[in-house]
Amino acid sequence: MNIHEYQAKELLAKFGVPVPAGYAAMTVDEAVEASKKLPGPLYVVKAQIHAGGRGKGKFKELPADAKGGVRLAKTAEEVRAHATDMLGNTLVTIQTGEHGKQVNRLYITDGVDIAKEFYLAVLVDRATGRVAFVVSTEGGMDIETVAHDTPEKIHTFDVDPATGFMPHHGRAVATALGLTGDLAKQAQSLAGKVYDAFLGTDASQIEINPLAVTDDGKLMVLDAKVGFDGNAMFRHKDLAELRDETEEDPAELEASKYDLAYIKLDGDIGCMVNGAGLAMATMDIIKLNGMFPANFLDVGGGATKEKVTAAFKIILSDPAVKGILVNIFGGIMRCDIIAEGIVAAAKEVNLSVPLVVRLEGTNVQQGKEILANSGLAIVPANDLGDAAKKIVAEVKKAA
Ligand code: GDP
Ligand code: MG
Repeated sequence: MNIHEYQAKELLAKFGVPVPAGYAAMTVDEAVEASKKLPGPLYVVKAQIHAGGRGKGKFKELPADAKGGVRLAKTAEEVRAHATDMLGNTLVTIQTGEHGKQVNRLYITDGVDIAKEFYLAVLVDRATGRVAFVVSTEGGMDIETVAHDTPEKIHTFDVDPATGFMPHHGRAVATALGLTGDLAKQAQSLAGKVYDAFLGTDASQIEINPLAVTDDGKLMVLDAKVGFDGNAMFRHKDLAELRDETEEDPAELEASKYDLAYIKLDGDIGCMVNGAGLAMATMDIIKLNGMFPANFLDVGGGATKEKVTAAFKIILSDPAVKGILVNIFGGIMRCDIIAEGIVAAAKEVNLSVPLVVRLEGTNVQQGKEILANSGLAIVPANDLGDAAKKIVAEVKKAA
C-alpha cells in the first residue's frame, strides 16, 4: 500500500525526521489558506499523486510549455494560480503512464533554498533478506537513470537484524554523501530515524529524493515516497486509514475486496487460475501460443462460488479482454463448485467473448457436466497446452 507525499512526510516527522512545514489542500481556497499559515517568502505547490517525476510532468489540459506538478510560488496569489492550474487536471509523468493521474489533492509546503540534492532510500533487499540503505549524491533526478549511467555513484549496504541500526551505519550514510562536520552528524541521526520509521511501520520502502542540504546548512526531506507491506496492515489500523482508493486501479481495488490476487496486464486473454504457480504457468503458455495475458488472477485455494463470480466480472470489466481462459485445479476447491460459479457468472454478465475452461482434480466429471449442460458456448479443454491453443484459436476466429 502506498501513501501520498504529505502523509509520508507527516509520518516521518513523527519519527523525528526533519521535513519542511506544510499543509494538504483539497481546494484552491484551502491551498491559499495553507500558504498563509506558512512563514514564506517561498512556497512550494505540489500535486499529490502516487507517482514520482511530478516536477518534470505535464498537465494534459494545459499548454505544453506550462510548468509541471511541483511549482515554486512567492505570494499567496501565485499559490492560487498554481493550485487552479493543477486541481482537477491530469498530470502525466514518467511514472504514471500516458493516461496520467488526476490531481485531487495538493500539498503546500514551506519552500527551502537548496544547496545540494541527495538520494536516500531504505528498502528490503530480497537477495540478502535484510533492510538495506541505498544512498547517492545524485539526488533530485530519476535514480534509475543514475543506476544505469553512473552505477558507481550509488552506495548500498544492509543492516544486520541482530544488531539493528548502529552508529557505523549512520557514518556510512554520511560518508557516502560526502558529508563532514555538523552535516555528517545530521545525516547519521536522520538515517537512524528513517530506519526506525521503516521498522515501526512495516514499510516496504521509504524513498527520499531529494534529501536536501539547505543554504543554511540543514539536512531536510523534500520529497518522500513510502509504501507499506500489505500483509502487515492488519497491525497498523491507523496507517490503513491513509489509503487513497482513488489512486488504485478500480479492478484491483474490487479484487482486493474479495481477497483475489489480481494484477492488470496489457494483453488480450483474461486468465482465471488458482494458485500463483499455475497462474504464472498459464500466462507463460498463452505467450508461447502467440498471445498475451490481460491479467494475472489467482482466485486462491479455498475460493467460493461468490469469489469466482466476482473474479469473472473483474476480468470482463477490462475492455481489452478478447477471450477468457479458466484453468483450475480442484484440490481444496472442487471442480463442480468452480463450474457452478463460471456458469452463474457467465449468465450474469452476458458473456460476449470466447471462454475456454480447463478443469482438473476433485469432482472434475461433475464439473465438466455442469459446463456442458449450461447452454453456454463454453469450450472445454483437456490439459494446459490444449487450453492455451484453444483460447488463442477462438480469439483469432472471433476477430
Ligand atoms: P518529483 O518530481 O515528483 O520527484 O517531486 P519533488 O518533490 O522531488 O520535486 C521535484 C524538484 O523540485 C526537486 O528535486 C527540487 O529540485 C524542487 N523542489 C522541491 N521542493 C523544493 C523547495 O522547497 N525549494 C526549491 N528551491 N526547490 C524545490
Ligand atoms: Mg522527488
